[in-house]
Amino acid sequence: MQSPKAGNENKPHIGIYGRCNAGKSSLLNFIADAPVAIVSPQSGTTTDPVRKSYEILGAGPVVWIDTAGTDDTSPLGAERTRKTCDTMALIDMALLVFRRWADPERELAADLARRGIPTLPVHNIADGEDLPAEERREIERTTGTTPVALQAEKRRPDERDELLARIAAMLPESSYRTPSLFGDRVSPDDTVLLVCPIDGEAPAGRLILPQVQAVRDLLDHRCLAVVVHPDQIGTFFALGIRPKLVVTDSQIFPEVTAQVPPGVEITSFSILLAAAKGDPDLYRKGLNKADELREGDRILIAESCTHQVSCEDIGRSKIPRWLEAHAGVSLRFDFVSGLSPLPRDLSSYALMVQCGGCMATRSQIANRIRAAAAAGVPVTNYGMLIRKIRK
Ligand code: SF4
Repeated sequence: MQSPKAGNENKPHIGIYGRCNAGKSSLLNFIADAPVAIVSPQSGTTTDPVRKSYEILGAGPVVWIDTAGTDDTSPLGAERTRKTCDTMALIDMALLVFRRWADPERELAADLARRGIPTLPVHNIADGEDLPAEERREIERTTGTTPVALQAEKRRPDERDELLARIAAMLPESSYRTPSLFGDRVSPDDTVLLVCPIDGEAPAGRLILPQVQAVRDLLDHRCLAVVVHPDQIGTFFALGIRPKLVVTDSQIFPEVTAQVPPGVEITSFSILLAAAKGDPDLYRKGLNKADELREGDRILIAESCTHQVSCEDIGRSKIPRWLEAHAGVSLRFDFVSGLSPLPRDLSSYALMVQCGGCMATRSQIANRIRAAAAAGVPVTNYGMLIRKIRK
């Protein structure tokens, strides 16, 4: 776990896609009811993805991403299209804006469907225009839903409400409901001991997000959440209370295990997050790779927050050091943080290690895992790996 300084992305993300001049930016301005994106009749006005946070009733705050047109043929068009495609790894849902449905829309819809992203087609119609029945049927077949029609020049506030209601109905619940860290592992009145080191890595004046999420989840379960520093574990057990579970920072697993009486289950914040947001079975399989690493293998460390790196940074310093010691070979490490895209060619990596992702949505973690799996790269999780290799 890191003490993140930035990178709050734990909100649903909705991407707006389409060709240049399809009306993507004006749609975002209509949704936000404010001129958040520059609109002009000139093709390719949107260059980099534009983000806007705006709340949807029933789903809460959502990050909207307006993207450059996918048919941009300007000198920087290929780079802009690449950035547009990169945003698809971050989103929970897409709006596909079109004036006419042809091959570029078919390709976009197919790409989004391949990634499992629910897509709402939005027809930007001119006055008096209608969508031919054949096109409508094809769109419904491809996207599984009826397109929304909005007149470019005469949009009404009630149409905004209807559009947002359609979006709220299609947005996967997992994108806005924070998954329970404890699930059915605890019952009301259980005591859970949370071991939270306050050291040089801890942020000033607060706990880190996984610890806060754990306390909140325990309170939601009506459990007794007891928060201690590692050197207070003995004091706690001297009270004669047997907790249902001990949850510790992964980095001090051996030290905590040595102080907890036999028979009391111990896990870590990162492992709880791995189960709530990631794919624990896949992570468990990926762990085996730690025993098979060879000299010079490349390892990708994927973190879902951004922060200033300290010399004892868990992702950049400790995991590399412990993994090399465990494998007995020298390894090469690359790092991605926050919502940065993964390297294009993943196939050269022997292993990807993903953090718990407290600041990411399930889709964002799932997209990373899917990309690694598609490239044949084993994936594991910070906490599970640390538990295995930390002596
Ligand atoms: S995003 Fe990952 S590294 Fe950052 S605090 Fe959350 S679990 Fe830790």
